[in-house]
Amino acid sequence: MRNLWNHYRYLILRRVTQIGLLFLYFGANAWGWTLIQGNLSSSIILGIIPMSDPYAALQMLAAGAVLSVDLLIGVGVVTIFYLLFGGRAFCSWVCPINMITDAANGLRKVIGINRVQGIKQPASRKIRYWVLALSLIISAIMGVAAFEFVSPISMVHRGIVFGLGFGWAAMLIIFLFDLFVLKNGWCGHICPLGGFYSLLGKFSLIRVQHYEENCTLCMKCKDVCPEHQVLYMIGKESLPVLSGECTNCARCIEVCDDDALGFSVRNMAKNKKTGE
Ligand code: SF4
Ligand code: SF4
Repeated sequence: MRNLWNHYRYLILRRVTQIGLLFLYFGANAWGWTLIQGNLSSSIILGIIPMSDPYAALQMLAAGAVLSVDLLIGVGVVTIFYLLFGGRAFCSWVCPINMITDAANGLRKVIGINRVQGIKQPASRKIRYWVLALSLIISAIMGVAAFEFVSPISMVHRGIVFGLGFGWAAMLIIFLFDLFVLKNGWCGHICPLGGFYSLLGKFSLIRVQHYEENCTLCMKCKDVCPEHQVLYMIGKESLPVLSGECTNCARCIEVCDDDALGFSVRNMAKNKKTGE
Protein backbone atom coordinates (compact mmCIF):
# COMPACT_ATOMS: atom_id res chain seq x y z
CA MET A 1 0.00 0.00 0.00
CA ARG A 2 2.84 2.36 0.95
CA ASN A 3 4.64 1.44 -2.23
CA LEU A 4 1.52 2.19 -4.25
CA TRP A 5 1.23 5.62 -2.62
CA ASN A 6 4.92 6.32 -3.33
CA HIS A 7 4.50 5.45 -6.98
CA TYR A 8 1.30 7.39 -7.55
CA ARG A 9 1.28 10.14 -4.93
CA TYR A 10 1.70 13.05 -7.33
CA LEU A 11 -0.66 11.52 -9.87
CA ILE A 12 -3.32 11.21 -7.16
CA LEU A 13 -2.71 14.77 -5.97
CA ARG A 14 -2.92 16.06 -9.54
CA ARG A 15 -6.20 14.28 -10.21
CA VAL A 16 -7.65 15.55 -6.93
CA THR A 17 -6.62 19.08 -7.92
CA GLN A 18 -7.93 18.83 -11.49
CA ILE A 19 -11.25 17.24 -10.53
CA GLY A 20 -11.58 19.41 -7.41
CA LEU A 21 -11.20 22.58 -9.49
CA LEU A 22 -13.81 21.36 -11.98
CA PHE A 23 -16.12 20.63 -9.08
CA LEU A 24 -15.62 24.11 -7.63
CA TYR A 25 -16.35 25.74 -11.01
CA PHE A 26 -19.38 23.48 -11.36
CA GLY A 27 -20.52 24.40 -7.85
CA ALA A 28 -20.18 28.11 -8.66
CA ASN A 29 -22.41 27.68 -11.68
CA ALA A 30 -24.94 25.28 -10.12
CA TRP A 31 -25.14 26.42 -6.50
CA GLY A 32 -23.58 29.86 -6.43
CA TRP A 33 -20.35 28.91 -4.63
CA THR A 34 -17.89 31.79 -4.56
CA LEU A 35 -14.58 30.05 -3.89
CA ILE A 36 -13.71 30.17 -7.57
CA GLN A 37 -16.05 31.49 -10.27
CA GLY A 38 -15.68 31.85 -14.01
CA ASN A 39 -13.77 29.71 -16.44
CA LEU A 40 -10.17 28.82 -17.30
CA SER A 41 -9.68 32.06 -19.27
CA SER A 42 -10.93 34.35 -16.56
CA SER A 43 -11.84 33.55 -12.95
CA ILE A 44 -12.18 35.23 -9.62
CA ILE A 45 -11.27 33.73 -6.24
CA LEU A 46 -13.61 34.56 -3.33
CA GLY A 47 -14.96 37.43 -5.40
CA ILE A 48 -11.70 39.33 -4.78
CA ILE A 49 -8.64 37.95 -6.56
CA PRO A 50 -8.90 37.99 -10.37
CA MET A 51 -7.10 35.40 -12.47
CA SER A 52 -6.75 35.77 -16.24
CA ASP A 53 -5.12 33.57 -18.84
CA PRO A 54 -2.07 35.53 -20.10
CA TYR A 55 -2.18 33.81 -23.51
CA ALA A 56 -5.83 34.84 -23.99
CA ALA A 57 -4.87 38.39 -22.98
CA LEU A 58 -2.04 38.34 -25.54
CA GLN A 59 -4.50 37.34 -28.26
CA MET A 60 -6.83 40.14 -27.19
CA LEU A 61 -3.94 42.61 -27.36
CA ALA A 62 -3.00 41.34 -30.82
CA ALA A 63 -6.64 41.78 -31.82
CA GLY A 64 -6.43 45.43 -30.78
CA ALA A 65 -8.52 45.24 -27.58
CA VAL A 66 -7.86 47.55 -24.65
CA LEU A 67 -7.32 45.41 -21.55
CA SER A 68 -9.09 46.39 -18.33
CA VAL A 69 -7.18 46.90 -15.08
CA ASP A 70 -8.88 43.83 -13.56
CA LEU A 71 -7.78 41.70 -16.47
CA LEU A 72 -4.20 42.97 -16.22
CA ILE A 73 -4.11 42.26 -12.48
CA GLY A 74 -5.49 38.77 -13.22
CA VAL A 75 -2.75 38.22 -15.81
CA GLY A 76 -0.16 39.32 -13.24
CA VAL A 77 -1.50 36.91 -10.60
CA VAL A 78 -1.47 33.95 -12.99
CA THR A 79 1.95 34.83 -14.43
CA ILE A 80 3.56 35.10 -11.00
CA PHE A 81 1.95 31.83 -9.90
CA TYR A 82 3.32 29.89 -12.86
CA LEU A 83 6.70 31.61 -12.69
CA LEU A 84 6.94 30.10 -9.22
CA PHE A 85 5.50 26.63 -9.83
CA GLY A 86 6.42 25.94 -13.47
CA GLY A 87 4.60 27.26 -16.54
CA ARG A 88 3.22 23.92 -17.58
CA ALA A 89 2.09 23.09 -14.07
CA PHE A 90 -1.14 24.46 -15.58
CA CYS A 91 -1.12 21.49 -17.95
CA SER A 92 -0.55 18.72 -15.45
CA TRP A 93 -2.33 20.15 -12.41
CA VAL A 94 -5.23 22.21 -13.81
CA CYS A 95 -6.12 21.58 -17.47
CA PRO A 96 -8.87 18.94 -17.86
CA ILE A 97 -7.47 17.86 -21.25
CA ASN A 98 -4.47 16.38 -19.46
CA MET A 99 -6.67 13.63 -17.99
CA ILE A 100 -7.83 12.71 -21.50
CA THR A 101 -4.37 12.68 -23.05
CA ASP A 102 -2.92 10.73 -20.10
CA ALA A 103 -5.73 8.17 -20.56
CA ALA A 104 -4.97 7.87 -24.28
CA ASN A 105 -1.27 7.47 -23.53
CA GLY A 106 -1.99 4.80 -20.91
CA LEU A 107 -4.19 2.88 -23.36
CA ARG A 108 -1.49 3.11 -26.05
CA LYS A 109 0.82 1.27 -23.67
CA VAL A 110 -1.77 -1.34 -22.72
CA ILE A 111 -2.63 -2.24 -26.32
CA GLY A 112 0.97 -1.88 -27.51
CA ILE A 113 0.53 0.91 -30.07
CA ASN A 114 3.89 2.44 -29.11
CA ARG A 115 5.64 -0.79 -30.07
CA VAL A 116 3.85 -0.95 -33.41
CA GLN A 117 4.61 2.66 -34.34
CA GLY A 118 8.16 2.63 -32.93
CA ILE A 119 9.79 5.26 -30.71
CA LYS A 120 10.44 7.86 -33.40
CA GLN A 121 7.70 10.44 -33.60
CA PRO A 122 6.56 11.51 -37.08
CA ALA A 123 6.01 15.15 -36.03
CA SER A 124 8.05 17.90 -34.43
CA ARG A 125 7.26 19.12 -30.93
CA LYS A 126 7.99 22.64 -32.17
CA ILE A 127 4.67 22.75 -34.08
CA ARG A 128 3.01 24.20 -30.96
CA TYR A 129 5.17 27.35 -31.18
CA TRP A 130 4.17 27.86 -34.82
CA VAL A 131 0.50 27.39 -33.86
CA LEU A 132 1.03 29.93 -31.06
CA ALA A 133 2.55 32.48 -33.48
CA LEU A 134 -0.15 31.79 -36.05
CA SER A 135 -2.92 32.29 -33.49
CA LEU A 136 -1.56 35.75 -32.66
CA ILE A 137 -1.27 36.68 -36.35
CA ILE A 138 -4.84 35.50 -37.04
CA SER A 139 -6.04 37.41 -33.95
CA ALA A 140 -4.41 40.56 -35.32
CA ILE A 141 -5.91 40.06 -38.80
CA MET A 142 -9.42 39.12 -37.66
CA GLY A 143 -9.63 41.38 -34.62
CA VAL A 144 -10.69 38.57 -32.27
CA ALA A 145 -8.88 36.25 -29.84
CA ALA A 146 -8.59 33.50 -32.45
CA PHE A 147 -7.63 30.41 -30.44
CA GLU A 148 -10.29 31.13 -27.82
CA PHE A 149 -12.92 30.48 -30.49
CA VAL A 150 -11.68 27.00 -31.28
CA SER A 151 -9.92 26.03 -28.04
CA PRO A 152 -10.81 22.46 -27.05
CA ILE A 153 -9.68 23.37 -23.52
CA SER A 154 -12.48 25.92 -23.19
CA MET A 155 -14.92 23.58 -24.95
CA VAL A 156 -14.16 20.71 -22.57
CA HIS A 157 -14.25 22.99 -19.52
CA ARG A 158 -17.55 24.55 -20.62
CA GLY A 159 -18.91 21.11 -21.46
CA ILE A 160 -18.18 19.78 -17.97
CA VAL A 161 -19.02 22.89 -15.94
CA PHE A 162 -21.94 24.35 -17.88
CA GLY A 163 -23.03 21.32 -19.93
CA LEU A 164 -22.65 23.35 -23.10
CA GLY A 165 -21.32 23.01 -26.61
CA PHE A 166 -19.01 20.55 -28.21
CA GLY A 167 -17.03 19.59 -25.09
CA TRP A 168 -17.66 15.87 -25.36
CA ALA A 169 -16.87 15.82 -29.08
CA ALA A 170 -13.61 17.73 -28.44
CA MET A 171 -12.68 15.20 -25.74
CA LEU A 172 -13.31 12.28 -28.08
CA ILE A 173 -11.38 13.79 -30.98
CA ILE A 174 -8.31 14.52 -28.82
CA PHE A 175 -8.49 11.09 -27.19
CA LEU A 176 -8.62 9.30 -30.57
CA PHE A 177 -5.94 11.55 -32.05
CA ASP A 178 -3.53 10.83 -29.17
CA LEU A 179 -4.44 7.15 -29.15
CA PHE A 180 -4.15 6.31 -32.83
CA VAL A 181 -2.39 9.16 -34.65
CA LEU A 182 0.37 10.71 -32.53
CA LYS A 183 1.75 9.89 -29.08
CA ASN A 184 1.34 12.94 -26.82
CA GLY A 185 -0.13 14.46 -29.97
CA TRP A 186 -2.24 17.37 -28.78
CA CYS A 187 -0.43 18.46 -25.60
CA GLY A 188 3.10 17.57 -26.65
CA HIS A 189 2.99 18.88 -30.20
CA ILE A 190 0.08 21.14 -31.07
CA CYS A 191 -1.56 22.98 -28.17
CA PRO A 192 -0.53 26.67 -28.33
CA LEU A 193 -1.51 27.24 -24.70
CA GLY A 194 0.93 24.49 -23.69
CA GLY A 195 3.46 26.19 -25.98
CA PHE A 196 2.86 29.53 -24.30
CA TYR A 197 3.28 28.03 -20.82
CA SER A 198 6.45 26.26 -22.04
CA LEU A 199 7.94 29.66 -22.87
CA LEU A 200 6.89 31.06 -19.50
CA GLY A 201 8.12 27.94 -17.69
CA LYS A 202 11.69 28.51 -18.89
CA PHE A 203 12.00 31.06 -16.14
CA SER A 204 10.12 29.30 -13.35
CA LEU A 205 11.50 28.53 -9.94
CA ILE A 206 10.44 24.98 -9.03
CA ARG A 207 12.28 22.46 -11.19
CA VAL A 208 12.84 18.74 -11.36
CA GLN A 209 16.45 17.92 -10.44
CA HIS A 210 18.37 14.85 -11.60
CA TYR A 211 20.95 13.33 -9.22
CA GLU A 212 23.23 11.32 -11.47
CA GLU A 213 25.07 9.61 -8.60
CA ASN A 214 21.86 7.74 -7.62
CA CYS A 215 20.78 6.83 -11.16
CA THR A 216 20.76 3.15 -12.16
CA LEU A 217 19.77 3.90 -15.77
CA CYS A 218 16.50 1.98 -15.50
CA MET A 219 14.89 4.69 -17.74
CA LYS A 220 11.51 4.41 -16.02
CA CYS A 221 11.47 8.22 -15.88
CA LYS A 222 11.82 8.63 -19.65
CA ASP A 223 9.20 5.97 -20.21
CA VAL A 224 6.52 7.85 -18.22
CA CYS A 225 7.53 11.40 -19.16
CA PRO A 226 5.11 13.07 -21.60
CA GLU A 227 7.98 15.34 -22.72
CA HIS A 228 10.85 12.86 -22.56
CA GLN A 229 13.21 15.15 -24.53
CA VAL A 230 13.52 17.36 -21.41
CA LEU A 231 15.24 14.48 -19.57
CA TYR A 232 18.26 14.48 -21.92
CA MET A 233 20.61 14.57 -18.89
CA ILE A 234 19.62 11.12 -17.57
CA GLY A 235 22.70 8.92 -17.55
CA LYS A 236 24.93 11.91 -18.29
CA GLU A 237 25.14 14.40 -15.45
CA SER A 238 23.34 15.92 -12.46
CA LEU A 239 21.31 18.82 -13.78
CA PRO A 240 17.96 20.49 -13.20
CA VAL A 241 15.33 20.12 -15.93
CA LEU A 242 15.42 23.65 -17.26
CA SER A 243 13.24 23.18 -20.32
CA GLY A 244 9.90 24.92 -19.99
CA GLU A 245 8.30 21.94 -21.75
CA CYS A 246 8.52 19.95 -18.50
CA THR A 247 5.02 19.96 -17.00
CA ASN A 248 6.15 19.46 -13.39
CA CYS A 249 3.80 16.48 -13.34
CA ALA A 250 6.33 14.63 -11.16
CA ARG A 251 5.66 11.25 -12.77
CA CYS A 252 9.42 10.84 -13.25
CA ILE A 253 10.01 11.49 -9.55
CA GLU A 254 7.46 9.01 -8.27
CA VAL A 255 8.43 6.14 -10.59
CA CYS A 256 12.13 6.47 -9.74
CA ASP A 257 13.04 3.88 -7.10
CA ASP A 258 16.58 5.23 -6.74
CA ASP A 259 15.98 8.81 -5.54
CA ALA A 260 17.66 10.07 -8.68
CA LEU A 261 14.98 12.72 -9.28
CA GLY A 262 13.24 15.22 -7.03
CA PHE A 263 11.79 18.70 -6.93
CA SER A 264 14.14 21.52 -6.13
CA VAL A 265 14.27 25.30 -6.23
CA ARG A 266 16.06 26.62 -9.29
CA ASN A 267 19.06 28.34 -7.66
CA MET A 268 19.56 25.61 -5.09
CA ALA A 269 19.65 23.10 -7.95
CA LYS A 270 22.30 25.19 -9.66
CA ASN A 271 24.31 25.51 -6.45
CA LYS A 272 24.25 21.75 -5.97
CA LYS A 273 25.74 21.22 -9.42
CA THR A 274 28.37 23.93 -9.24
CA GLY A 275 29.12 23.33 -5.55
CA GLU A 276 28.61 27.06 -4.84
S1 SF4 B 1 -0.91 21.31 -23.58
FE1 SF4 B 1 -2.83 22.47 -23.80
S2 SF4 B 1 -4.50 20.99 -23.68
FE2 SF4 B 1 -2.62 19.98 -22.98
S3 SF4 B 1 -2.69 20.16 -20.80
FE3 SF4 B 1 -1.49 21.90 -21.56
S4 SF4 B 1 -2.97 23.58 -21.90
FE4 SF4 B 1 -4.14 21.67 -21.63
S1 SF4 C 1 10.52 15.62 -16.55
FE1 SF4 C 1 9.26 14.66 -14.97
S2 SF4 C 1 7.99 16.32 -14.18
FE2 SF4 C 1 8.81 17.00 -16.18
S3 SF4 C 1 7.25 16.39 -17.66
FE3 SF4 C 1 8.73 14.71 -17.55
S4 SF4 C 1 7.83 13.29 -16.05
FE4 SF4 C 1 6.80 15.25 -15.77
